[in-house]
Amino acid sequence: MNENLEVAREIFIIPGRNWGSYPSSNCLYLKDLCLIDGGAESAWELKPEVIVNSHWHEDHISMNSVAKKIYAHELDAKAIESYEEFERRYALGEVVKLFLAYYPKLAFRKVNEFIEEGEVLKFGNKEIEVIHTPGHSAGHCCFLLEGKILYLADIDLTSFGPWYGCVDCDLQEFLDSIDKLLKIAKSVEIAVPSHGEPVKGENLQEKLLKYREKIFERERKIIEALKSGIDPVGKGIIYRKLPEPAEIYKNFEKIMIEKHLKKLNLKSLSSADKDGS
Ligand SMILES: [Zn+2]
Repeated sequence: MNENLEVAREIFIIPGRNWGSYPSSNCLYLKDLCLIDGGAESAWELKPEVIVNSHWHEDHISMNSVAKKIYAHELDAKAIESYEEFERRYALGEVVKLFLAYYPKLAFRKVNEFIEEGEVLKFGNKEIEVIHTPGHSAGHCCFLLEGKILYLADIDLTSFGPWYGCVDCDLQEFLDSIDKLLKIAKSVEIAVPSHGEPVKGENLQEKLLKYREKIFERERKIIEALKSGIDPVGKGIIYRKLPEPAEIYKNFEKIMIEKHLKKLNLKSLSSADKDGS
């Protein structure tokens, strides 16, 4: 197990297994006060009063049952509170229970307080600024602690690139959210993604730009496929090789490609075929 890392006085990174490789994820912890997300195995030893959820995905809400209060953005609250809404947003039907099986203690429960863009949450003498960064989910938020520690949640800077495979994802919003983070990147000392190793502030701008570029790289390949009359789904444009269960990941890929078509003002894969030929 990785050691917990104190990045500022009484602020700790709680690394998930293998630096938050799914189904694990990294959390931030304000000692005895508040946990941001709850996907790291060792976080179960903690007793936070409050868990702040960056968004509604299962690898971020799995510890919600242990806190007295849950904070989240209003746009994600319903999917944190109800399995039915969680299932609807994944658009996979009951198969989504395969993901929930990783988290036997996950409980859908009430969000006690809504957080919003620009709000400053106060815990003891610590301050957490809420940065609403939609795109990965409608209510996805990043958090700036003490003006210098940035919790990136699932704007995770992985080499895979941005993920937008649920019905409440939005590609243009994702780009705008990355741009929002680029504006503050220079003041950040350390950035902590939910998945992957922390990033030093001096490398953040370059990593965000590379991550952003992945969207345009995919877009170029999608347009190329459509021009050749090829259905871009399952051609390695998003997932080089579909992970198992392949049907689930093919569905995510289909939704992600549909998000590109929406951004390009093409209504659906069938209308895109016509346009591209
Ligand atoms: Zn997520």
